[in-house]
Amino acid sequence: MAKSTDFRYNTGATKVPWPAVGENYNAHDLKEVVRFLMRGEGEAYENAFNAVAAEIDKLDKVSTPPGKLSLGPQVEAAEAACDKYLNTTGCAFVANATAGFEIAYKYANLQPGDEVIVPAITFIATIAYPLSVGAKLVFADLDPLTCNMDPKDVEKKITDKTKMIVPVHIGGYPVDMDPIMELAKKHNLIVLEDAAHAFGGEYKGKKLGTIGHFGAYSFHEVKNCTSFGEGGILTTNIDEFRPFMKKARFFGCNFDTPIKNWLYDVNAMPGKFGPFVAGNSSTTEIQGLGLRLQLERYDKILAERKAAAEYVSKRLEANDAIIPQDTKNPNALPTYHLYLLEIDPAKAGGDVQTLKKKLEEKGVTQIPHFGPLFHFDILKTFGYDQDEIAATCPVCEELFNNRFTHLPIYGLTAEQLEFMADAVLESVAEMQAGK
Ligand SMILES: *Cc1c(COP(=O)(O)O)cnc(C)c1O
Repeated sequence: MAKSTDFRYNTGATKVPWPAVGENYNAHDLKEVVRFLMRGEGEAYENAFNAVAAEIDKLDKVSTPPGKLSLGPQVEAAEAACDKYLNTTGCAFVANATAGFEIAYKYANLQPGDEVIVPAITFIATIAYPLSVGAKLVFADLDPLTCNMDPKDVEKKITDKTKMIVPVHIGGYPVDMDPIMELAKKHNLIVLEDAAHAFGGEYKGKKLGTIGHFGAYSFHEVKNCTSFGEGGILTTNIDEFRPFMKKARFFGCNFDTPIKNWLYDVNAMPGKFGPFVAGNSSTTEIQGLGLRLQLERYDKILAERKAAAEYVSKRLEANDAIIPQDTKNPNALPTYHLYLLEIDPAKAGGDVQTLKKKLEEKGVTQIPHFGPLFHFDILKTFGYDQDEIAATCPVCEELFNNRFTHLPIYGLTAEQLEFMADAVLESVAEMQAGK
């Protein structure tokens, strides 16, 4: 079997090629991959698997290994497919959303003392980088109907130290981006959209994650779309930075030039206020393939999520103590990564903690939901005063303690969705009856 010589580190035509710096995979490995991705047990499974294994052995005799396993044509094809889907140019496929955020944060040359406005409720990934470099996190209060950052509160929290605003489309519901972009323009701030939940969602006809100066999606295994468990896409609207997006993913190296050049020609990346050092957030060819395959059926995935959310919201309208997830806003096309369930505690005769307990007893899983980050120990460790911050985010405290939870929505059968809607309606009725 010929070994592939089509390798990035090929140094040119020669009688003694450098076929591969690293290793490849063989038929045995591929069989294990098949077993991993298509699991089963019992005689029927083993028979079917053995038939496949025999064919893989035949394939092994007539095939060549890919040569490239990292940052090659599959990654490029996935990027092209994403650019087409998102209506962007020059997006970069990176190791995960967090790695994408880092590039955007580095572009802003974040330093100790710089302020970054983030929503009071999100996942630690949103804030890990600014926290790690000693920038100051400023928490914006939430819109009570979406659990997203409230632009009016963002405006109040802008100071002359503010450098960035980081809206998070939590659960895949669009943040009201227009006022955020206006504030950014007025105060010369960089907007990074945490679109980890929001791949394919839209705000006023624009894809979420493509409105700010940067946007990053997550293809972690729990998100709407995955690239074999990990991955992310970073987009930018900064024309001057676009040519550096892919270089910023691998130490600033330019793979378009021969190895002799790029190996030693390592460049700093241009940030907004000065140069920065790029790290490594490369992706593999298998991830590229995985993302492209998911994209091919992504419209169907989103349509199923939407239909499920519409069903649940329609059912929950039956009790006016329940505030169902909004599915009708013409300016907001959510991805329904999570279903946002809210109640009005005054009308429901109790708070969401009681509702959560009742749902659990009835066998309805809830997503252990995103909480106010300023209550986390890690923030205390870095000197944040949680009581002081909580006082600046009263809506967030009320939402978290009394009003909202997230329900699963995708992959549920019609029967499960019906059971879940029934359980919510019954639980709230019980609370109203004082039970
Ligand atoms: C999952 C998640 C991230 C991080 O995504 P990774 O791809 O795992 O880095 C960021 N923000 C939010 C809100 C998330 O839920």
